Amino acid sequence: MADNKQFELNDIVSMKKPHPCGENQWKVIRVGMDIRIKCMGCQHSVLIPRRQFEKKVKKILEKSEEK
Ligand SMILES: [Zn+2]
Repeated sequence: MADNKQFELNDIVSMKKPHPCGENQWKVIRVGMDIRIKCMGCQHSVLIPRRQFEKKVKKILEKSEEK
């Protein structure tokens, strides 16, 4: 995985496909075998297997400041 795709909890990411609501900013709210991301536009959240998430994520927009 490329360095610019390293993600952590609470990061804001964009995906290759925007959410149907038109927003393309997602917050990573759970990290594990599956990744849960929440749409910043409509607050809808989806659970995606990690491997699939890594394929679908476009870039990390904002790194979490919480350590
Ligand atoms: Zn949405």
